[in-house]
Amino acid sequence: MKELFDITIIGGGPAGLYSAFYSGLRGMKTKIIESQGMLGGKVRIYPEKRIWDVGGLQPVLAQEFCENLIEQGLTFNPTVCLNQKVERIDKDGDLFIITAGDGTHHYSKAVILANGSGIISPQKLEVEGAHKYELSNLHYTVGRLERFRGRHVLISGGGNTAIDWAVELMYVAKSVTLVYRKEELSAHEAQVEKLQQNGVNIILNAKITSLQPKEGTDCIGAVLINVNGKNQILEIDDVLINHGYNRESSVSFAPDMEPTKQGDYYECTGRGTLSTEGIFAAGDNIAYDGKVYLLLGAFQDAVNAVNSAKQYIDPSAHPSGMVSSHNEVFKTRNEQILKERLGSC
Ligand SMILES: Cc1cc2nc3c(=O)[nH]c(=O)nc-3n(C[C@H](O)[C@H](O)[C@H](O)COP(=O)(O)OP(=O)(O)OC[C@H]3O[C@@H](n4cnc5c(N)ncnc54)[C@H](O)[C@@H]3O)c2cc1C
Repeated sequence: MKELFDITIIGGGPAGLYSAFYSGLRGMKTKIIESQGMLGGKVRIYPEKRIWDVGGLQPVLAQEFCENLIEQGLTFNPTVCLNQKVERIDKDGDLFIITAGDGTHHYSKAVILANGSGIISPQKLEVEGAHKYELSNLHYTVGRLERFRGRHVLISGGGNTAIDWAVELMYVAKSVTLVYRKEELSAHEAQVEKLQQNGVNIILNAKITSLQPKEGTDCIGAVLINVNGKNQILEIDDVLINHGYNRESSVSFAPDMEPTKQGDYYECTGRGTLSTEGIFAAGDNIAYDGKVYLLLGAFQDAVNAVNSAKQYIDPSAHPSGMVSSHNEVFKTRNEQILKERLGSC
């Protein structure tokens, strides 16, 4: 059976989740389609980083921020489809037909593209047999800093992510060694200075050429690196690879429906509208004069995209939603919160 939604949001990152919240607040039947098995988007790449620059929030770990964002996004019980990569958008009359990679069709009156930088996956270490250590001590991100306490960690990479992790890890790990294939690190100077001042072993013109197992375990025990053409062995407890990300994007559209692009970005207005009627966009995937590529920018985009979608579906609707502090949709929830507070006095 074709279940019809008012708004279908492609992508369950910050822009998609906040769009779902705001769409619920404006009384619309909402669906989120996310290609990964989890909501949260790129914020999942940096769970142990502290976020400082969202207005009104004390510095918060990205992991915690992500959990709150998901909870807020699900406030009005949108339908959530995980593990479905949207591949194509077509239109039949007024109805959008959204097709996922597994052949599932979704039907919607309006669409919000919140697919950010696309589907992101880390560039893997291209060394024979590397994948088999991914379950033990070969890492592509730092889930929990504590996991590395007292350990000898080798980081491969020379960009901001590698250097930022080296700075964080040098306070908990027993030792941090950084190897980078080029002559110079390409990260922020201040961070590089911190590494140099804290005795992090930086080996340039070097790359990992093989991983050697720790006897009797499924773990890496040592790493062979090639430095300026000479081999060197490093005994380590953990290897962290930060070689950048692969980005897979490309939602395709029926002929004449493809929104205009500026390079990799959808050309958008500050109201979240694109060149294709009925398709709106929010977050890191769009460009307009003054666009802010931060979480707070994604939230503003989400509000604008939802408000524009609301008016597209119902031209008589108010151009914006009612502020939450005076909005009747929160009446029961506010009463619940009050009861819980009084109950705990
Ligand atoms: C290392 C790092 C640190 C950062 N630190 C900060 C910070 O401190 N403060 C701050 O404000 N911002 C920070 N940012 C930026 C912030 O994370 C982004 O601005 C924000 O994540 C953008 O949200 P988004 O929803 O537009 O995109 P994304 O977070 O990229 O989410 C897009 C979602 O869409 C999904 N998707 C993509 N294509 C499809 C498809 N075809 N079908 C279905 N789903 C799809 C993806 O899987 C993903 O879940 C940081 C970014 C990085 C990389």
